[in-house]
Amino acid sequence: MLRVSRLCAAHGAVQAARDVDLEVAAGTLVALIGSNGAGKTTTLNSIAGLHKPASGTVTVAGRDITGWACHRVVRSGVALVAEGRRVAPPLTVVENLELSAYSGRSSKAELREQLERVFDLFPRLAERRDQYAASMSGGEQQMLAVGRALMTKPDVLLLDEPSMGLAPSIVDVLFQTITTLHEAGATILLVEQNAELALAVSDHVYVMQRGQIVSEGTPDLVRGRSEVMSALFG
Ligand code: ATP
Repeated sequence: MLRVSRLCAAHGAVQAARDVDLEVAAGTLVALIGSNGAGKTTTLNSIAGLHKPASGTVTVAGRDITGWACHRVVRSGVALVAEGRRVAPPLTVVENLELSAYSGRSSKAELREQLERVFDLFPRLAERRDQYAASMSGGEQQMLAVGRALMTKPDVLLLDEPSMGLAPSIVDVLFQTITTLHEAGATILLVEQNAELALAVSDHVYVMQRGQIVSEGTPDLVRGRSEVMSALFG
């Protein structure tokens, strides 16, 4: 479904991603893990159109979307939940969700259907549908950020560090929902600094270090590589 080939991306003189190859098959949950500054966010942002890659290609269902602007990437079926839960604070839950769908591909009927689907997935959002995003907790805002991405009916969902800064109980709720989405057939690329969490839910794992993919395989295989685990956990 999603294929990244020999992707290189830089921030000025910093080579943040070098010759990154990765693949996310339809219906799988793939994790990209690695320590601080490994290049995970840069890779995700290069897929999502927030960062222009220097070279390499990104294809979705065989279509080359390399270097497309983010609104076109969304229309091609890829939605990003960016690091730091970007919701619109002065808008309510429902307004945030509806606003997101306008940039997507949904008709009005589909929009209502998607809204109900998001509320089914996140009952907490349903309870707070008229609450302003600004007054919600960090966990609730993260749920709203995921809900916004789902409103565009993505073929591929990109999640950047969804657990960041959240209490363990909220992280549990969030990851249960990610697992539910996965079981329902969603295609997900998950960037996580919490490697244990990522290994627990994914089908396939890529490990990134200093801009490069240094290991990949099933969670069990990656867990068995002591050099990788010691690089990740010290
Ligand atoms: P983290 O988990 O800390 O977000 P990461 O694996 O997502 O790390 P990136 O954020 O992609 O890593 O950063 C990769 C490298 O690029 C790092 O050396 C970082 O300092 C650098 N970098 C990232 N964004 C910028 C920027 N806007 N300007 C300059 N350098 C940047």
